[in-house]
Amino acid sequence: MGRCLTSVCVLCRREHVKLFLKGNRCFTSKCAIEMKRSAPGQHGAEFKKPSDYGLQLREKQKLRRYYLMMERPFVKQFMRALRTKGKTGEAFVRLLELRLDSVVFRLGLAPSRLAARQIVSHGHIAVNGRKSSIPSMSLRAGDVVQIREGHQLQLVKDSVEAAKQRKSVPNWLDLDFVKLSGKVLRLPDRAEIPVPVQEQQIVEYYSK
Ligand code: SF4
Repeated sequence: MGRCLTSVCVLCRREHVKLFLKGNRCFTSKCAIEMKRSAPGQHGAEFKKPSDYGLQLREKQKLRRYYLMMERPFVKQFMRALRTKGKTGEAFVRLLELRLDSVVFRLGLAPSRLAARQIVSHGHIAVNGRKSSIPSMSLRAGDVVQIREGHQLQLVKDSVEAAKQRKSVPNWLDLDFVKLSGKVLRLPDRAEIPVPVQEQQIVEYYSK
């Protein structure tokens, strides 16, 4: 599985937004965005008014980086969204949010999206009672995600405890703090997905 090897904080600094890629550190004052560190590169602080294309490209890159995805699988999901009823941009964001690694992260079973992906690909997760090691697996309403018996890592327990204190589990998910399992109660509305992108710009980017 390909993945971005750049230091994750650099990605946030590049996009001028918190992408929450580094777990608990993202919620502290040590976060590079909180410390107002400039964009990477010699002229990081300089800002030229971007073209329409530049704006669309930045929104696309921001969303791709938010979900730590490579371009090919990202485009594949966009094509899926195109075939979905309703607004393409919203369907696209919803599809990304319903990836197994994303749901594991949102449930608080992992401190970051990267850790969630590792937990899934190392075989610690079961979906509806069956082992699943595919981070891109698409979940539906009613699916149950669970840490497998005998795989209850300290990292998971610490992460769930932190999620409990932050009350960060969204309303469309239900987490059982004791069993370390969660259920997708329903599909999320766009307003319930805290991803700071203008998805319409991305639709226009791929429509050219
Ligand atoms: Fe981004 Fe988290 Fe690093 Fe802050 S700590 S810059 S939110 S990855």
